[in-house]
Amino acid sequence: MTDRMILFDIDATLLTTGGKGFGAMIRAGKDLFGEHFNAEGVDRAGRLDPLIIADLFRVNRVEPTLDRIATFRSAYADRLKASLAEGGATALPGVHDLLDSVMTETGPTCALMTGNFAETARLKLTAAGIDPDRFPFGVWGDDAREDPPSRDQLPGVALRRFADLRRVEADPARVVVIGDTVHDISCARAWGCRVLAVATGSYTRQDLAGADRVVDDLSDTESILDWLLS
Ligand SMILES: [Mg+2]
Repeated sequence: MTDRMILFDIDATLLTTGGKGFGAMIRAGKDLFGEHFNAEGVDRAGRLDPLIIADLFRVNRVEPTLDRIATFRSAYADRLKASLAEGGATALPGVHDLLDSVMTETGPTCALMTGNFAETARLKLTAAGIDPDRFPFGVWGDDAREDPPSRDQLPGVALRRFADLRRVEADPARVVVIGDTVHDISCARAWGCRVLAVATGSYTRQDLAGADRVVDDLSDTESILDWLLS
């Protein structure tokens, strides 16, 4: 085990659900608040689920009480589970090979860092054939506890969890964030971590030019592995 850490985003980095994640949120909203519930103008790529839900409530004029948010979160997970049972979640190119190559006994600590909630992350990963229990820990959308919450807070949580797990402080320069959006890049930068951007989401290579390295997808296992461990 080295002092290195790799933090994997989930949506459009490890896997795609073909829009089923957001679809399940909208379905939950319609079931709870009426068919008029919509996602007009709500941006979701690379954002924290609690922020997406806050935007959905605002757009639909639903008062965000703690009870209502908890009910929505659980309804979303139920609908996502039902929807993914019909298929549609797929690991992106190269993901299985890269995980197998990098997750070795002597390799870096590989954790999840995502805007998803823990329970819905687990549903998506399992549906895409990625065992969530391979990862020693995750950092989730509701782990950003500062006000206002932002993805930029997540690497700090990951560094703390690494230190708790390995009993050694992580050097941010030995941490790589892998993600598909500018938010993944900015959170890595906020903590001095390296960042590998993968253009398998809605952001183009050009949009992601601020990363240390940009790839079309994760299929070039050897070259990516070399870079991650360099
Ligand atoms: Mg993503």
